[in-house]
Amino acid sequence: MVTLLGGAEIRELAARLNVNPTKKLGQNFVTDPNTIRRIVQAAKLSGNETVVEIGPGLGSLTLGLLEAAAAVIAVEIDPRLAAELPATVARHAAGTNFQLIVQDALTIEQLPSAPDALVANLPYNISVPVLLHFLQTFASIRSGLVLVQAEVAHRLVATPGGKEYGVPSAKLAWYGSSSLAGNIGRNIFWPVPNVDSALVYFSRHDEPLGTSALRKATFAAIDAGFSQRRKTLRQALATWAGSPAAAEAKIVAAGLNPQSRAEELSIHDFVSLAKVV
Ligand code: SAM
Repeated sequence: MVTLLGGAEIRELAARLNVNPTKKLGQNFVTDPNTIRRIVQAAKLSGNETVVEIGPGLGSLTLGLLEAAAAVIAVEIDPRLAAELPATVARHAAGTNFQLIVQDALTIEQLPSAPDALVANLPYNISVPVLLHFLQTFASIRSGLVLVQAEVAHRLVATPGGKEYGVPSAKLAWYGSSSLAGNIGRNIFWPVPNVDSALVYFSRHDEPLGTSALRKATFAAIDAGFSQRRKTLRQALATWAGSPAAAEAKIVAAGLNPQSRAEELSIHDFVSLAKVV
């Protein structure tokens, strides 16, 4: 049987370990078991998955995941927190399948087994790059649920045509579809952050949109297009293509309007542009 961490035990753990949560590592720990249950439920696990968790911290979400998944692989950068985690799991979730890796999740290239899902309360300052790194590096990840700043959540799930649509939205759309899965208030975190948070669910496309080379070319087009998002594509892509005229030729060859702006292009439009290059 798995039991979750309550607020009192988290405070006791933190005091005993002398944890001073750092902003640099985005350390805001979930102190409320009901929120953990909500997060785990929103991840839509069947019970058979190997889940990878980025940043287990004191283990709040880890325990919820161990209750709902076949196995959990956790990747934590902070050695003090990592050192305590096996004991917390032994106390609250004995007999479950748990592996811990003490490493920087931004640069990790290998895991002990192939994860089916990614579920994490992501460190705020690296939430988008670490999510994209995992989707890129671990092709076995079919779906996932991440807790991020509300503003980032809205950017991740945004569709073409609005102010929130940008590089994170277009790049996440390369890998799969995404949707908001609820808001999370500030007060369930310790320390309490000064921004709101939200859940994002994602599911990988059944078939990849293209090869790794096409992905790189598409991401270069996305970066170039949004580097000057108020300008027309013809202007924004001039450096990327060599000149405004070369940009216009490529945009037309891709079947797009040189007077449109990056924020109007779907991931499929960016792929068309990349294919022309
Ligand atoms: N999962 C815990 C929870 O929900 O209470 C903690 C989440 S806290 C927002 C983020 C966690 O990510 C912290 O434990 C922090 O030490 C860890 N972290 C920060 N940067 C990291 C990195 N580059 N690689 C792995 N873990 C990281």
